[in-house]
Amino acid sequence: MRVTDLPRDDTGCGWINILPPRGAVNRLRGDVTADAIVLGAGFTGLAAARRLAELAPDKRVVVVDAQRAGEGSSGRNSGFVVDLSPLPKKTIGPADIESYRRMHRINTHGIALLRDAIGAHGIDCDWSETGKYHGAAEERHYDVLRTYAAHMAQLGIDHAELDAAALKARLGTAHYTYGVHARGAVMAQPAALARGLALSLPGNVTLLEDSPVEAIDYGPTVRVRGRDGTVTAPMILLAANAFTPDLGQMRHRMMSLTLTGSLTRPLTEAERDALGRPEPWGVLSAHRFGATVRYTADHRIMVRNTAEYWPRKAMDAADLDRRKALHVRGFNTRFPMLPEVTFEHTWSGLVCVSRNLTTAFGRVAPNVFLAACYNAGGVSKGTALGDALAHLALGSDMPLLADALALAPPAWLPPRPFLDLGARLDLARRRRDVGAEL
Ligand SMILES: Cc1cc2nc3c(=O)[nH]c(=O)nc-3n(C[C@H](O)[C@H](O)[C@H](O)COP(=O)(O)OP(=O)(O)OC[C@H]3O[C@@H](n4cnc5c(N)ncnc54)[C@H](O)[C@@H]3O)c2cc1C
Repeated sequence: MRVTDLPRDDTGCGWINILPPRGAVNRLRGDVTADAIVLGAGFTGLAAARRLAELAPDKRVVVVDAQRAGEGSSGRNSGFVVDLSPLPKKTIGPADIESYRRMHRINTHGIALLRDAIGAHGIDCDWSETGKYHGAAEERHYDVLRTYAAHMAQLGIDHAELDAAALKARLGTAHYTYGVHARGAVMAQPAALARGLALSLPGNVTLLEDSPVEAIDYGPTVRVRGRDGTVTAPMILLAANAFTPDLGQMRHRMMSLTLTGSLTRPLTEAERDALGRPEPWGVLSAHRFGATVRYTADHRIMVRNTAEYWPRKAMDAADLDRRKALHVRGFNTRFPMLPEVTFEHTWSGLVCVSRNLTTAFGRVAPNVFLAACYNAGGVSKGTALGDALAHLALGSDMPLLADALALAPPAWLPPRPFLDLGARLDLARRRRDVGAEL
């Protein structure tokens, strides 16, 4: 089958651009054979490849990516390595509690895998086990966070509720008036983390980058075809997240949203004084369409506050400029004490979502396996499920496999143009009351 769309991420990502440039990479050229193909070198594919190679050290794994490894969504996200996200529900019943616990087990497994890899390979990515904040600026949005705190209390998960004064003392901004500190999450520089994982793969993994897969022949052996070569193997693990439907799998089960963010230059000493010299932090909004904001270890501020249905997937410079105006607005309302600070980088990235906010995991043909669709929370979850997918593909058991296989499948979505209309209306409705959380 022909692949119906290819990644074309913009070049503006701050997390990537502040890293040292990389030299030449290996591209797919000629006809290559392998024991397993991993398509996609984000957190999912990198974890899958690492585990495949470790479980079968005499086998050859080929990872192929259209772009540089880790420079799709994995390097473009906000760097929250989450243990648990709020459920969009007011009350939770016994079934919700079990799925919440399952999600917590999956995510904490992903955190542990990342922690181990960082330790083993000395990956420098500002890994910081300080937890994450969830903040609200307006009283009408407190409820979501109160419910989240109650759910965490019910599950015995470490957290604290914070008032305006406590938030101001920790964050430096007086914008938030109520919040929850979830202590089990980790903050990281996402592009540095993803790159470090890609460059520390075991020796029996070959990484082929800047090599878009344009066609896939599924069958007893699988062949992926690029512009200048092919890879053939007895099995394939698909780790292409938002592009999974373009590979002929999970069509009408998942869709992408395009998010944009901006990153400032580092604050000066005087600006750090004006902010009150807080420790690095990250805040997620009480509102699903509110801003995610970070103060980084190198004293920059990141604002991400747009999420749109954008079937074209990629954004050009003019598209990004329009979104940057919203990032500036979000910055100015939070940091009036930093009038001179400007954004140096603006970029977009894709999240893959399903209607019922669940994830796709498993075997979709005898030799085809996939994990995708993390509803904007794929750093820890993608890592854990990539690991579990390698176990599933090799028939090797592990405790987390039962949790992964128990995930409810993504619900059906209508085809375009009905999807376009429905998604745009739904997003507009949800965005309507974002108010000061933008
Ligand atoms: C702005 C933004 C903020 C986010 N914030 C967070 C956050 O703070 N915390 C969190 O947990 N999650 C966050 N997410 C979501 C998170 O980034 C994703 O869930 C995660 O990166 C998914 O990892 P993945 O490996 O499955 O997919 P990806 O990182 O998307 O990797 C898939 C790879 O497949 C490759 N590919 C696709 N098609 C082909 C093809 N035909 N040929 C070859 N290669 C192909 C792509 O180039 C890409 O590298 C955010 C996402 C965005 C965009």
